[in-house]
Amino acid sequence: MRVYLDEKEKELVTVICNQCKRELLVENGILKEECIHVSHDFGYFGQRDGETHRFDLCEECYNKMIATLQISVDKQERRELL
Ligand SMILES: [Zn+2]
Repeated sequence: MRVYLDEKEKELVTVICNQCKRELLVENGILKEECIHVSHDFGYFGQRDGETHRFDLCEECYNKMIATLQISVDKQERRELL
């Protein structure tokens, strides 16, 4: 869950993991630790047509979540980090 100072979501105030409720480190509007942010617009073919779902997971909760998948995530190593 992300909290912004303004409605246009320009200045990030805090990020809270939707699973464990831990507040992640945000300094001067910049998130300073790993976070998996999901924003999904549901379309015509599902039961949530027109809904947008957004949530954040800390790295630990993400690791626990993907460990429950029946097929492992597709993982690739990047050579260049920005
Ligand atoms: Zn968490």
